[in-house]
Parts: sequence; C-alpha cells; structure tokens
Amino acid sequence: MKNRIVLLIFIFTFIITAVKTTPINAKDTEVLIKVGLAIGEKEAVFLSDAPMTIAEGNKVILKGRKLQIACINGTAKVNDITFKKKISITPAMGSLIRYNGKPYRGSFEVIPKGNGLTIINLVSIEEYLYGVLKAEISPSWPFEALKAQAVVSRTYALNNIGRHSSQGFDLCAGNHCQGYKGLSSEDPILNKAVDATKGEVLTYNGTLAKVFYHSDSGGCTTSSKYVWGRDIPYLKGRKEEFYASCNSPYKHWKLELPSSKLVEILSENGIEIEDIKDLAITKRDNLSFRALTIRIIGSKRSIEIPATRVRQMIGYSLLRSTAFDILKKKANEKREGKAKPSNLYPPKLSKEERRARARSINIKELLAKGYSYDDIILILAEAYGILERDVAPQNEQPQEEISFEAKDGESIFIFEGRGWGHGVGMSQWGAKTLAEKGKSYTEILQFYFPGTEIKRRW
Ligand SMILES: [Zn+2]
Repeated sequence: MKNRIVLLIFIFTFIITAVKTTPINAKDTEVLIKVGLAIGEKEAVFLSDAPMTIAEGNKVILKGRKLQIACINGTAKVNDITFKKKISITPAMGSLIRYNGKPYRGSFEVIPKGNGLTIINLVSIEEYLYGVLKAEISPSWPFEALKAQAVVSRTYALNNIGRHSSQGFDLCAGNHCQGYKGLSSEDPILNKAVDATKGEVLTYNGTLAKVFYHSDSGGCTTSSKYVWGRDIPYLKGRKEEFYASCNSPYKHWKLELPSSKLVEILSENGIEIEDIKDLAITKRDNLSFRALTIRIIGSKRSIEIPATRVRQMIGYSLLRSTAFDILKKKANEKREGKAKPSNLYPPKLSKEERRARARSINIKELLAKGYSYDDIILILAEAYGILERDVAPQNEQPQEEISFEAKDGESIFIFEGRGWGHGVGMSQWGAKTLAEKGKSYTEILQFYFPGTEIKRRW
C-alpha cells in the first residue's frame, strides 16, 4: 500500500514536470547533450589516433592513445591511477574517440558508480541528431520528410533533456529515448537534413512544443488526450485525406490470438481471468475510431481495461495500434468474411459516452468499481503522459498476418487493424506521402502540429 502511494506521488510529480514549459530564447548557444551509452560496465576501452586527455575536474591527469579503464571497488582505475569521481576524456583537435570499437564525435565522461562504470558521450545536439536519425527514418525517403523528422527529433530531444539526470546523463542511447550509435550510424543524406534545419525547433506560444510521432496513423491521427489524457491544442486528431496514396507496409494488419494465449498474456500481467468468452470495444475515439476501452468477458467475471494497456500487454509489434476491430472465430472453422473498413469506423459516440469521457479520473470511483491499485496507477500513467517512442523498427519487413497455434474448437480473436503506433502527432509514413505530393517540411509540420511555429534557436 505504502509503495503504491509512493508510486502515485511519483506519477503526480511526473505530471508536474511533464507539463513544465521551456521558454525559447532568440539566440541560444548550441546545447550539449550527455548521452548515456552504458551503465554498470566492468571495463571500458577508449582508442584514438592522437593522444586523448584524461582530466578530473580541470586537472589533466594523463594523456594517451589507448585508455583502458577498469572498475575496481567502486573506483575507476586507469594505468594504475585510481579515480573516485567523474573523469573526462577529450580527443585531440580533429580526432575522434573510439569506444568499444565504435567511433563517436565529441568527448566522454566516465563515472564510477557502485560496481560499474557509467559511460557518457558528450556531443552537441546537432551531432547527436546525426547519430539518431537513421534509427527513426530511412535516408531513401523524400528530403522534405527527412527535414520534418530532423525538426521533430531535435524538439523531442530538447524536451527530454535530463530524463536520466539521476544516472548522470540526459538521454540514454536505447529506444527508450532515441536510438544512438554515434558516427557508425550516420548517413550523409540524413546529416544534410540536420544541417538544412540547423537549430530549428517547433514552438507553441513561444515555448518548446511537446512533439510526438509514430510510424503510421492508419489514415487518421488521434488527440493526445486519448493517449496520455492531456488535451494539447496542437496535438489533435487529423484525418489524412491523402492516405489512399500512402504505401506504408503497416496499412493493414491482422493478429489472431487464441483465447488461451490471451488468458496467458493477461495472467503474466497480473490480471487473472479463467477463460475469455468474448472481447468488446466499449469506447472509441470519435475521429480516428481507435479503441479506447475493451471489455474482456469471462464466464465468471468481466473487466474493462484501456485499449492502450491491452496493446502494452500484447506487445507493440503484435498489436501495432489501437485502430482495430475485433472479430471472433472457432479454431479450424472458416471465418465469415473480412472486417470491412466501415467496421473500423463505427458511428459517433453517444452524448453520455462523451460526457463520461470528459469527466476527470476519480480514484475513489475507480476503487468503488473494483479497479485494483495497479489498474488505477496504469490508468493515471496512461492518462497523464507516460508515453514512450512508438515507431516500427527500421530495416525489418513486417509480417502482415500473425497467428498463434490454437486448440481445436477454441475461440480465436482476430484483431484487424491499421497503422503502427499511438497515433499522436506526426505520422512518419504520412509525412513521406505529403513530401511525395510536393509539400515542404514546414507544411508537413503545420499539418501534424497545427498552430505551432518553427523557430531557429541557434
Ligand atoms: Zn532513455
């Protein structure tokens, strides 16, 4: 119980920090970013073709072309010298440092912490973007779409600076922030897209805009309020009238899940239900018609949970978005018909449903309805913006249809859906289609973030 209260406090603290606004100054100096490459490393090797400088604070300790650092009893040991605190490694002018065989721009920091070393790469934000863009977008796409992604990624990075401050850096190098591998993941065309938009960020009323993006909206983006509970004027649902000419591989997908598999997935996530008779979408977003809540109907009890949570539990690459319809068949039975597009776009919600949605979350009420603390924490988390990057992996051909083995006669639930990702903000495949139709990156950004402005920060 105490832990849960702590967690609730944490979530509310998060909300407060998540809604803070960052003012934009006309001429800032370029921001330096600390990217956490690794934590808990026993050893680290740094190589360079000219001598690197190791310093503790402002004091230069030694120089060398090869530095082997080991973590011994909570200290960093370099060539028989022991450091208890953070050390910095700077390359000679015009040289690069290789860490674990890979070249990186900028300098490094190594922090001995507990039984391991934290390895941090310090780069300017523009150099950081050189290293992240390839994980987000293909260089073969139209240049205006690449520029739109560069502005969005720069704004996203600035908004998330300090996300890992308790670990001593700003952003991690994994998918949690934006995938970063330094110079080895750079591409000359993507670097040009970064240079062409140097210092440009999206702003709203003079402050940094909250930007989100996803792979493919499936034809209509959704409002931030349906995904993370906050109504943001420039994060509204937008219908992509041009979607018919979009050639995304995620346009249509199908996932077949036997009821036993679904019972297993729910159980792994702490939701015990003996069997599943049926699934029903009980609420939808009235513009994109994404599922908002799903009722899981068992023979003894039934529960209603947010569709975003169902997606989390099943897995983002299996249930690629919440823009789906659910059909049912028996194993080894021929399924009747295919979900028609009209099934994915049901009539608008009733007044009562809209009113119910407009009501703020009432914890007392949820408790009275039998929601567990875990459920409520998740609803709050979802409602208040714990939202991670949600894009399809690059260079991977996705399967259009995925199914699991089922027992004879067992019910199989068929999720027929479209798009990939939470649907908030810019659709990357939509941006590509708009660029193919001759739209500029400013027009693309205006479409997905209406009312925002591009400002050059440095
Ligand atoms: Zn991270």
